[in-house]
Amino acid sequence: MKRIYLDNNATTMVSPAAAREMEKFNTTHYGNPSSLHGFGLDTRPELRKALDRIYRLINAPDADDVLITSGATEANNHVIKAVFAAQMDSVQKNHYITTNIEHPTVYRTFEYLEKLGARVTYLPCDKNGLISAAQVKAALTEQTALVSIMLANNEIGTILPLSEIAAECRQAGVLIHTDATQAIGKIPVNVQDLGVDYLSFSAHKFHGPKGIGGLYVRHGRRLEPFFHGGEQMANLRAGTLNVPGIIGMGVAAQEALDGLAYEATEVKRLRDKLENFILQNIPDVFLNGDKQKRTPNTLNIAFKDCEGEALLWDLNEHDIAASTGSACASEELESSRVLRALGIDKALSHMAVRFSLSRFTAEKEIDYVISVLPAIIKRLREISEGK
Ligand code: PMP
Repeated sequence: MKRIYLDNNATTMVSPAAAREMEKFNTTHYGNPSSLHGFGLDTRPELRKALDRIYRLINAPDADDVLITSGATEANNHVIKAVFAAQMDSVQKNHYITTNIEHPTVYRTFEYLEKLGARVTYLPCDKNGLISAAQVKAALTEQTALVSIMLANNEIGTILPLSEIAAECRQAGVLIHTDATQAIGKIPVNVQDLGVDYLSFSAHKFHGPKGIGGLYVRHGRRLEPFFHGGEQMANLRAGTLNVPGIIGMGVAAQEALDGLAYEATEVKRLRDKLENFILQNIPDVFLNGDKQKRTPNTLNIAFKDCEGEALLWDLNEHDIAASTGSACASEELESSRVLRALGIDKALSHMAVRFSLSRFTAEKEIDYVISVLPAIIKRLREISEGK
């Protein structure tokens, strides 16, 4: 059997159709869309089509409401820093609300704003990794400039009640941003139903290429540019358009939209098959995150007396790729901030492993994991007991 990839929350395979389309725009249609000659002009209709597919994926009402970025890191940095910059002279609006389970691209950006004088409230999640609209409401003040809360968590998959949270923000007249990077392609994401002002996403999490993503900007909520220079993206982001990236993201967006039903049924069925097997057959395991309010592809589970890093190595020896949580944090041997936020003790948080599936995960791959996992866990537990 070839290698089994169960780390789709870290990144995904580019879909074959997206890769094929991109190839054309790297080799024959390589013109700069800003150029006034055939090479440049040739790219424009396909570019338009790709952008339309991206708008449709999130149901953006207007064609120019999505700012194409280099990914969610840029989108998150852009919105938070631009709102801060716009409020810089206003001592009245110097308060920000986020959560203690955000991705580092949001969390660390707010830590940076604190150094520049902002006041930031980090709402604590409950033991299942959820944040309520009531918590947001209680934290809102006259000084609050922006609320930034993720739609789905990358480590545990919990889905937060963003439409309720956005309703509270709207009522208070406060801007609301959501990092939807881990939700797109897994659950329906509709900016109009959510009622958010800003929404970030990244193509490589839904079988598009790396280095491309976007920021939805509600009409009338225009931000200052993050990159100054050329007039691309209606003066909102300078830089030659990443045409192959946008084309690839467009194909991936269409496929992600078409695949949502499969995600909710088949991907979930396979995730549940793995999860139920572990819960029923391996003793002393702890599911992290909310069992119901969770993306259908994600399983984060701690195996008592089984060190997560060691388990990953053993899985890797069996050609199975999983993760201990956030790929961005995996080089720091610190235990996960998100798992600690759930109130799990530090020792147990080191024993957690994340399996994240995709629509390319085959049932026989899950069956193989199921066939080797109990022996791997047993061996590691014997080592930890010093047998
Ligand atoms: N937000 C979340 C929730 C993520 O999972 C990631 C990727 N790990 C990012 C932001 C950063 O996205 P990108 O890789 O596109 O910069």
